[in-house]
Amino acid sequence: MKVVYIASSPHSGSTLLDLMLNGHSGAFTVGEIRQLPKFVGPEQLMKRCTCGAPSIIECPFWHEVDAVVQARTGQTLGTLNIDRYDDLDGCRRDNLVLFEAVAAVSGAGFIVDSSKDVHRLELLLSAPGLDVLPVFLARNPKGQILSMTRSGERKNRQFASLLGLIGFYCLQNSKIDRLIRDRPHFRVRYEDLVRNPEAVLSPLMKAIGYEYEPGQRDFAEHERHNVGGNRMRRKKSNELRLDEAWRRDLNFFQKVAIDIGTIPGRYAFRRAGAHGLAGK
Ligand SMILES: [Zn+2]
Repeated sequence: MKVVYIASSPHSGSTLLDLMLNGHSGAFTVGEIRQLPKFVGPEQLMKRCTCGAPSIIECPFWHEVDAVVQARTGQTLGTLNIDRYDDLDGCRRDNLVLFEAVAAVSGAGFIVDSSKDVHRLELLLSAPGLDVLPVFLARNPKGQILSMTRSGERKNRQFASLLGLIGFYCLQNSKIDRLIRDRPHFRVRYEDLVRNPEAVLSPLMKAIGYEYEPGQRDFAEHERHNVGGNRMRRKKSNELRLDEAWRRDLNFFQKVAIDIGTIPGRYAFRRAGAHGLAGK
């Protein structure tokens, strides 16, 4: 079961990369699937599926996946252990069940998981039956850090200080690099993806085992049922715009502090090593 896993810090462009991979005829993206329990578990958050269905449980696609899971295991999407690490074997097994059910319903040759989280990547890499290609995505830290400060998410407030955000950027990149550097993986810079999607996606698709398809650039045209991700996943437009608000909205001292402070994090991203496939 082939899985492409996008690992990154938050606000690094993972939704865009996720949608562009979903545009391939052999792909199906589940988005930030680690959040699935929030939508199908006891809480049942009523958030629209990206396809427009009023919720994940009312989406015809996820309904069918649920039926396959039930037929094969007697469990439901709501009872699968997708993100509870107190039972690692169960979590690995249930994620395989989920990915196989998604592949059976979608007919896709590979599934894209853009959960970003490095601990989940570690879990999936050790799951029997899963063939995981990690894709390390990073953005210019000045853009990533400015986006973090503007995010309304409560969990990000703890990183409110510039120093905290710089430390977080370095820590995330180091953790991802340590986990993947000695195995096949791919590295993508967000700015390169926006400026020239074909140049980034062509070698990436080869690494996955497919050829790039021009339709991937028209990412908004394709059917989508991804769970979680930013508002971009609902957009109807294929417009690509490089978000460089940091040039205007950070002052000189903030820019210098980020440039110097994130040197270890940027180095961790750059050293692709022998196992980094043609990522830049
Ligand atoms: Zn849907």
